[in-house]
Amino acid sequence: MQMPFPSDLRGEEMMKTFVRETILNLKGYETKNTPYVYKLDANEGKTLFFSDQATSEREDFNRYPDNEATVLCEVMGKFLGVPTENIVAGNGSSEMIELIMKTFIDTGDGVLSFTPSFSMYEVFTNIYSGRFFSVPSRRDFSLDVDALIAKANEIKPKVILLCNPNNPTGAFLTEAEIKKVIEETNAIIVVDEAYIEFSDGSFVNQVNQYENVIVLRTVSKAFGLASIRLGFMVANKEVINIIKKVKPPYNLNSLSQKYGIEALQKTEKMSRYVLEIKQEREKLYQEMKKLNIEVYPSQANFLFFKSTLVDLAERLQEKGILIRQFSGDLAWYYRVTIGEKEENSAFLNGVKEMVSHASS
Ligand SMILES: *Cc1c(COP(=O)(O)O)cnc(C)c1O
Repeated sequence: MQMPFPSDLRGEEMMKTFVRETILNLKGYETKNTPYVYKLDANEGKTLFFSDQATSEREDFNRYPDNEATVLCEVMGKFLGVPTENIVAGNGSSEMIELIMKTFIDTGDGVLSFTPSFSMYEVFTNIYSGRFFSVPSRRDFSLDVDALIAKANEIKPKVILLCNPNNPTGAFLTEAEIKKVIEETNAIIVVDEAYIEFSDGSFVNQVNQYENVIVLRTVSKAFGLASIRLGFMVANKEVINIIKKVKPPYNLNSLSQKYGIEALQKTEKMSRYVLEIKQEREKLYQEMKKLNIEVYPSQANFLFFKSTLVDLAERLQEKGILIRQFSGDLAWYYRVTIGEKEENSAFLNGVKEMVSHASS
């Protein structure tokens, strides 16, 4: 029998002889299971939908789900004001980002985004052997569209990813700025609108004006349905037809389709929740300013801030409050999810205590 590798290699060393080099260098997406009272580290939103209806109905578990999630896409289309034929559904916008890379990125192709932004853009680019480039935010973390355009014209990326509002900073690109990027570059422009419900406006109704624009939406944030892993791609028919060639068969399970249909038919709950979060965001922003914390304007359901309080995240964690902490270039920067009144007060009181300790 022929051995495909030297027989003295075992375990990790053996795997290295098979695994693609780009994968060996990756770090997998890691989540911690830290115990908590207030979970303000992942922008998840609140449970709005308890589905007795979707679960009590008989489910044909032996049958494959609707491959195209037809009804779900119809309901989403109505909610967005976009024809069904412009929509693909899948396992969160994460699957959509991966489908985009699979579809458009050959080895060595460029992908461009801002930094800091959503970390999975770079990870998926690497998995598909693309080259990832990013343009730094301005010092105040606003986004410099002209710098992005200049970089694009230099490196000629195939895909440009705009996270709007941007995670983790909350910075927002106006419709005019997005149009400028589309018109002054030559790439597939992806607008990731994971937090768009908390902002001043979506780009989704523009998808039929352009050949090369893809908008991503999710129910993980404003709808509070992160657990069902449901996201959407909205684009013109040509893009959608190509994506459907790449999409795995039956990618979205029947239960997620059901829960999604139910949630998207009753969006008033979501709208009320979003309004509450926007008010809470403004209040918390003002309160943090009063404490002389460097906090940045946000159009999402989180606030990005800088604090030189020592071990801020660890000390909040001791009180059961989880926030997101950054490292490297962003050491001393944090992101806190806007929760309900009680959650935000707990966070604010925790910070206040530390501020008074630090100054006494
Ligand atoms: C949370 C988040 C996503 C992931 O959404 P899922 O639909 O849960 O996969 C995508 N993009 C950004 C910017 C996010 O913050």
